[in-house]
Amino acid sequence: MDPRVPDAHLHLFDLESASPGSIRKLAEEESSGRRRRRASACHDRAEFEATEAYRSEGLSFDLSFGIHPQHAVWDDAEFLANLARQGRIAAIGECGFEFFGDRPAWTRTAGNEKLQRAVFEFQIGVARERDLPVVIHQRKALDLVFAYTRDLKRLPAVVFHAWAAPPREAEALLARGIHAYFSFGTPILNGNKKAAASCAGLPDGAVLLETDAPWQPPRGERLCLPAHLDRVLASAATLRGVEPGALSELVELNYAAVFGPPR
Ligand SMILES: [Zn+2]
Repeated sequence: MDPRVPDAHLHLFDLESASPGSIRKLAEEESSGRRRRRASACHDRAEFEATEAYRSEGLSFDLSFGIHPQHAVWDDAEFLANLARQGRIAAIGECGFEFFGDRPAWTRTAGNEKLQRAVFEFQIGVARERDLPVVIHQRKALDLVFAYTRDLKRLPAVVFHAWAAPPREAEALLARGIHAYFSFGTPILNGNKKAAASCAGLPDGAVLLETDAPWQPPRGERLCLPAHLDRVLASAATLRGVEPGALSELVELNYAAVFGPPR
């Protein structure tokens, strides 16, 4: 399998916590020539600083920082603005909306919505100011994403991580002029029909792949690992009716359009 396909979304710090030694292993792979671009998301200051330090272990990756809607607090807002100003992040995120309802703070009440909107608006404001892409997490809040069309259109790229909505919703976002990318991961392995339909049908220029490692393990596994991207690639290629190598090349181009050329 082509080792070049980039991973548009994972959590290196959580991966190392869940499976110690992972960073060293990835750095070894990289030094033996098996390079793969990847974008790691962080959500608080300690996690960010620990992740940034993995570079000194010889691992290269793109970094994003965001105030996650599952923990919508203002503590690191200033830190985020500074990271953007200092050019230490390639993207802002995950940011967005969490209204799945499985916790009180994730229920769509007026108060929760007001808070999540304010935190989101702050982040897309910083993204606009620094011309940075955003990585969006949304569950049960696609209407809010559409409500921010005008702001999102002004951003260089908007990545919908773990996209699991029907293709017509993705196409509607693209038709409104948002530079949207839709990232697919293990849900397409685990039988998520909407994710699979979107992965099969969206335009070449809008598709990214991800693991979300260590989260969202393939069925039967304890963790999602960076190496599971090969399974995601194979499955996405089958859904799209193309060779994995061809899809990998296309995803590389899309990844570079969002996160910039390899450094
Ligand atoms: Zn994630």
